[in-house]
Amino acid sequence: MNNQLELYGINYFSEQELKNRVSSAVYKEFQQVKRRTKELSLETADAIANAVKMWATENGATHFTHWFQPLTEATAEKHDSFIAINSDGIVMPQFSGKDLIKGEADTSSFPNGGVRSTFEARGYTAWDASSPMFLRGEEFCKTLYIPTAFVGYNGETLDKKVPLLRSLRSLEKQVLRVQKAIGDSESKYVDVNLGVEQEYFLVSKDQYYKRQDLLLGGRTIFGSMPPKGQELSDHYYGTIKDKVSSFMAEVDRELWKIGVMAKTKHNEVSPNQFELALMFNSANISVDQNQLVMDILKKVAVKHNFAALLHEKPFAGINGSGKHCNWSFSSDAKGNLLDPETLEEGNLSFLLYATAIIEAVDLHADLLRASTATPGNDFRLGGHEAPPAIISVFLGDQLSEILENIEKGEIGTHTSSSQVKIGVKNFPKIPKDVTDRNRTSPFAFTGNKFEFRMPGSSASPSTPMYILNAIVADVLRGYADELEKNTDKDKINSSIIHLLKTRYQRHKRRVFNGNGYDKEWVKEAGLRGINNLRNTVEGIPGYIKEDSIEVLERTKVLSRAETESIFKIYSERYNKVTSIEVKTAIRMCRTEIFPAITTYTNTVLNSIKQVNEVFGDADLVQKDKEHVLNILNLKNDAKDYVVKLSKEMREVDKIEDEYEKAKYLNSHLVPLLLILRNRIDKIEIHVDKNIWPMPTYTDLLFKL
Ligand code: ADP
Ligand code: MG
Repeated sequence: MNNQLELYGINYFSEQELKNRVSSAVYKEFQQVKRRTKELSLETADAIANAVKMWATENGATHFTHWFQPLTEATAEKHDSFIAINSDGIVMPQFSGKDLIKGEADTSSFPNGGVRSTFEARGYTAWDASSPMFLRGEEFCKTLYIPTAFVGYNGETLDKKVPLLRSLRSLEKQVLRVQKAIGDSESKYVDVNLGVEQEYFLVSKDQYYKRQDLLLGGRTIFGSMPPKGQELSDHYYGTIKDKVSSFMAEVDRELWKIGVMAKTKHNEVSPNQFELALMFNSANISVDQNQLVMDILKKVAVKHNFAALLHEKPFAGINGSGKHCNWSFSSDAKGNLLDPETLEEGNLSFLLYATAIIEAVDLHADLLRASTATPGNDFRLGGHEAPPAIISVFLGDQLSEILENIEKGEIGTHTSSSQVKIGVKNFPKIPKDVTDRNRTSPFAFTGNKFEFRMPGSSASPSTPMYILNAIVADVLRGYADELEKNTDKDKINSSIIHLLKTRYQRHKRRVFNGNGYDKEWVKEAGLRGINNLRNTVEGIPGYIKEDSIEVLERTKVLSRAETESIFKIYSERYNKVTSIEVKTAIRMCRTEIFPAITTYTNTVLNSIKQVNEVFGDADLVQKDKEHVLNILNLKNDAKDYVVKLSKEMREVDKIEDEYEKAKYLNSHLVPLLLILRNRIDKIEIHVDKNIWPMPTYTDLLFKL
């Protein structure tokens, strides 16, 4: 092999591979199943299972696994071997249609938020024909990965795939209705496209293992900023270090083998921070691929003596990591429906969709915010880096101007479609590569897609995506109802203009093209009646607002019980994550930091004693005495906070309701932890570095 590009797809069961191995009737049925226009028959499932078994075993597979995504942000798998012995005692690979379609799992340990009682702990996994299978593992004992949905025994949602698939169907249905109403009789399918940019940090593996906080919680709870951070911007897009390059090359290799198109990679803003962007794909496939990216980053990092940190804010004082979700939708006949170039032909559908998106985001901003409210993201959103926690939409000047003009009635007051067309022709061309890209906006139009920048780096992109699909589908349902009333095809553009005008006017408060980091924006948003939900505790109630429950029900993405269970699960998750951090901080203080401080102060005290003995001059040791006193005072203060934190932890344990517990942790424990950190970080810069018990920020951020 001359080139690692040749590895592309070798462990990936492509549609072409399937086509080569099954009859055309089976392949046709597979296409229909994939599009969900037909139920899979057992015969077809058997034929596909046989084909994939042959392919997998020819390529060194010994096992298969139903690979699924419980509500943990990660994936789960249970491996079964292909091996069976026939009646003649011969070992044969065995894998039937039934094995492919459905697996049963005792999954009582996964979060279920009360939708399922423990005596019904069984769940099952069902093949998702729309996401390709692939092989992973060592040569000669690879495993066939079958992407599956994971549901409870009575069909209740317990994972991240089912609601996503439901949301894709919902959006597809409404977009097709709109397309039809505006005269597109050709489009039959709609694909929702997602391109994920994944940010992460690398630190040296040795250093990583020396930090309990990184090991247990993924972020540094203590650590003072070195004199240099990211201010010189010398890391951003800088040359990639050789060691990191070879790590990235292996990540690419691993991804390409399983058909994942890793497109770009570069250094990010913070020292030792990087980004990997995948080529966009159908949203369902992209979510699966992002899970693989996260897993592969971690595994390959270890081989290169690194640890990959996917936490949203591993280090205080420098930028954190996000997961930008680039989102658009396209139809089989019309291509990307968010492409403004279509405007030049007098087609107003782009403006219609853009307005629907603004409306959806405005109506359901709290729900959208909830979808990004993960514990790690609390440390990132609203700082002077990542987007603020306030949901707004960036359109850019040109698109804003068009909508403003429409709203003011400067065009479109005429009913004849030709006049509307003239107005449209005069629209300025919106360049694809929008140079005034606003990187401070949480939700930005970027040329021919929207980029949702709020989701955190460690979270599955599925949740924000299914929420976005659902809320946009729901608004489009209303638009389709409206447009379908129009029986005179010539007047369709005036009906559209009417919709644009009224809806843009009602929801334009959500549009903000300015600097999202500006403190003024926080005030301005308040005046516009826009919420600023600063953290998980303020964010997750967005799930259970009546409006949110209803929109998810109407679009059939989640039932009321499922949404309520998600709220419980995420409350519980916040509590677990925050409690682990508090307990880790207490333990680090008691078993590492305080003893180290004692060792250090003792050495200085010994030196004071000796200086005194030799010189008998109190003045000579005065500064050292003050120094020790200062450290001892800070240490005592820190000890008080450790005691307070452990007392408060006992209070937390008494609270039964998970959300109440979350509120208590957020209002009582999180601020205490911050003060404790402040004291410890102050001490750190006065103590002998050789005695300090863990790698410092300088070690972590500048040594690789
Ligand atoms: P930037 O860092 O400037 O936001 P990148 O090139 O790093 O841009 O990432 C852009 C992402 O958007 C990629 O994942 C790309 O595949 C994706 N993308 C491009 N066009 C579309 C589209 N029409 N729909 C969805 N995603 C898209
Ligand atoms: Mg981006």
